[in-house]
Amino acid sequence: MTEPTAALVDGFSRGTHLLRAGLCDEAMVEFRAVYAEAEADDNGELMAACLCEMAWCCYKLGLAEQGLECAMGARWLRQRQDDTVELARAMAVEAILFLDLGFSDEAFELAEEAVRLAEAGTDLPVLAFTFNAKGIVLAVCHEIDLGMELLERAVSVAASQTNVAAEGYYLLNLGFCHARLAAEADTLGEEERAIGEREAAIELTESAIEKAESSGDHWSLRVALGNTAEMLGLEGRYDLALKYLERSAALPGDPGISLRIHYLYTLGDVLFRAGHLDQARAVMTDALALADQSPQIDHQANTASKLAEILEALGETAAALALHKRFHTLYVRQSGETARRRARVEEIRAETEQLRSRAATLADQALSDPLTGIANRRSFDQILNRLAGTPIAIAIVDLDNFKSINDRFSHIVGDAVLQRVAQAIVAQIGPHGHAARLGGEEFALIFPDAPEATAAAFCEGVRVAICSTSWSDLAPDLAVTVSIGLASGDGDTPSGDLLQAADNRLYLAKANGRDQLVSTDGPILAPMATTAGERRRWRA
Ligand code: GH3
Ligand code: MG
Ligand code: MG
Repeated sequence: MTEPTAALVDGFSRGTHLLRAGLCDEAMVEFRAVYAEAEADDNGELMAACLCEMAWCCYKLGLAEQGLECAMGARWLRQRQDDTVELARAMAVEAILFLDLGFSDEAFELAEEAVRLAEAGTDLPVLAFTFNAKGIVLAVCHEIDLGMELLERAVSVAASQTNVAAEGYYLLNLGFCHARLAAEADTLGEEERAIGEREAAIELTESAIEKAESSGDHWSLRVALGNTAEMLGLEGRYDLALKYLERSAALPGDPGISLRIHYLYTLGDVLFRAGHLDQARAVMTDALALADQSPQIDHQANTASKLAEILEALGETAAALALHKRFHTLYVRQSGETARRRARVEEIRAETEQLRSRAATLADQALSDPLTGIANRRSFDQILNRLAGTPIAIAIVDLDNFKSINDRFSHIVGDAVLQRVAQAIVAQIGPHGHAARLGGEEFALIFPDAPEATAAAFCEGVRVAICSTSWSDLAPDLAVTVSIGLASGDGDTPSGDLLQAADNRLYLAKANGRDQLVSTDGPILAPMATTAGERRRWRA
């Protein structure tokens, strides 16, 4: 994996800014482009980061299924990367999307695990984000008190970090909880409690508006303005409600279809309650037309039912009845919708599963050399990176006059020689070192934590094994030898310098007549220790 280029880092931060400004469609385009590049670069971290942001864009755009697909991908990558903090974040996003799709069991399990992981770490913004996810899940699952407790913790962590955007979003959710409690009190006929809860909801949502305004988070701002207007409408404070809606409409940029429907629905409802029936009908008709374009049946059902109510109040009974019927059909479809969503979720799971096994195969393929089956250059570099700072010895093994083997015996024989040399190397060094094919007829050996003398003994074993092998089954008269350059370092020498030193020594070995090992001590012409038994003794 290479470091992301400055252009990719820029693209990602542009996406983040667009998402923050509530321009989710545009943010999605940015993240998609960065994701494609990250995939081409095999940059799993950046891929996961993009998927997580894309999932969040989808959530804000009301595209929960697509969002879930992204979130599952992000979670899977984070699991492979062993990054618990980012894993917690991805799981929290996935939980919220599951909740949005109506699957609260899955949502709860994910949110709970996300909190557990975040609590084990030290990343406070992620911790707050997971508290928020679990909080909303609990609130929606009729555990409002527990949910609010978690949301309050999310708010206070965000406040202590002066993370204004996050604080605003968590306050919005906390306000939503109180609004739910108010609605519950309304149904129970507990008018006083309803008013109290609604007041609390309005107060919290107003703080959310303030935070969202100062952080420039237009998504939260729109949702908060709409929610406040809705609650003010329920309290009969129509003029103020309309003022909030005007502020929302005046915000720049396209908020996406979900928020536009939400806005029109709330406006229509406030106008209806205020007795402006004609205006309410016009607005709600627009809302329904927009909802018809949305994949979410609940949008259509809600607006159809509200428009029916308005038409009824206008005395247009026939039109109202037609809409009531439509609402009924949508309502029936809505229950079928849960089954369809369930099937889709299973499909997404299966797709992610396939993606997993494919990615695992690709990852293996990406690290091995197709001809010899041993590690390739990329894998060699990874091993070197892993061992950075520890003492190692590196050897470069190059076949002698290999070009003439190809020329005399054919390329096919040449390939077979390369395969057999790879096998001989692996057999000689066993678990004591790593072998890779660097390319062409060049191999590299890495011996972690080995004194140079020990590594030299293994290299000499490789050299002797190859020159003493009988190659006649491949071609009569075929003889194969290798030259080897060896260098070692105590952990302070950069691996690039070690490779260069080994390469210089390989050059010396070639110049000295080939079929030999050159190490720090110069050429080793006589076989030193050629059997495994001797080498073992030597190491001890
Ligand atoms: P020297 O002893 O100096 O290393 O001479 P050499 O002939 O081994 O080195 P040279 O670099 O001149 O030639 C290497 C040859 O290896 C040339 C190339 O055709 C051949 N080669 C590279 N990759 C493969 C491969 O995958 N299969 C086969 N059969 N040949 C390969
Ligand atoms: Mg060669
Ligand atoms: Mg070569």
